[in-house]
Amino acid sequence: MTDTLDTTPDAFQARLQAFEGRPVGPPTVAPDEVNQAMIRHWVEAMGDENPVYLDEEAARANGFPGVVAPATMLQAWVMRGLRASLEADRARAEGSTADPTAYDELFLLLDGAGFTSVVATNCDQDYRRPLVLGDRLTATAVIEAVSAQKQTGLGDGHFVTTRLDFTDAAGAEVATMRFRILRFKPKPVTAEAPPAGTDAPRPRRPRPALTEDIAFFFEGAKEGKLLIQRCASCGKLRHPPLPACPHCRSFDWDTVESTGRGTVFSFVVTHYPQVPGFDYPLPIAVVELEEGTRIVAGLTGIDVGAIEIGMAVEVELVAVDEDLTLPMFRPAGPAATGAR
Ligand SMILES: [Zn+2]
Repeated sequence: MTDTLDTTPDAFQARLQAFEGRPVGPPTVAPDEVNQAMIRHWVEAMGDENPVYLDEEAARANGFPGVVAPATMLQAWVMRGLRASLEADRARAEGSTADPTAYDELFLLLDGAGFTSVVATNCDQDYRRPLVLGDRLTATAVIEAVSAQKQTGLGDGHFVTTRLDFTDAAGAEVATMRFRILRFKPKPVTAEAPPAGTDAPRPRRPRPALTEDIAFFFEGAKEGKLLIQRCASCGKLRHPPLPACPHCRSFDWDTVESTGRGTVFSFVVTHYPQVPGFDYPLPIAVVELEEGTRIVAGLTGIDVGAIEIGMAVEVELVAVDEDLTLPMFRPAGPAATGAR
């Protein structure tokens, strides 16, 4: 922060990197000990039925000293409440933060250089031992790394990695969490779809993010098929595609071709904001397929005022451009019954 006149990229990067290793603020002491009530609410919300979180005997039978907290609750123990968060946000917005943290300074610097948008990118946690009832955690946060400027799909930006070290009442490390965000310059807002009659080429729809778990769906669509992922172990269908079966945890799967028939379970009609490449008003439905799975897709061939929950629909594979085919749904006519 000493050389405010030197605005070259190298000098800016040096100023960012000077934050590496700086504590974000004073350590946060958990307001409550690890306790059964919070664990009970957590596992009920998550639908986790593992008895080691609630049953002393089951926990001991599994080699634990007693009831343990779900590992993923780690950060919940030191989170400040909603009211304190809102107050801190307001103070920051008003510039009245009594004691600015290294975060406040870093983000002010990034904001000033145009990196005003933020998105969380990833979080890794390492656990040294399970947390047990009565543990009282303290979290110490350090800005671990500020990357050089990177080009990303969202815009140019800097990745900021924060490391939180969690210790118990005796000062022993129990877990570490690394949390990464991207502070980026938002891309200029592009014009909405050109008015009809102009020569400007119609912008293409955004591409789906293809992973090995989901590529089959779009490849199938190109071949005219609506494919649904099926667990090869227990046979249950699932959509959207996932690497593992949520019912039996198997990683083995194949696909089945849907009849493409279903009913509108729910829908919205989007008017704004208008994203280039789409036509508005844009009706989007959750369709319950005959096979029992639900799928989110666009509706086509219908007046938006005529859409009703429960109406029968059938799939139409629509080639929206030369390399993207999407399943959409249209009202099922009597003549269409059994067509697919
Ligand atoms: Zn399964």
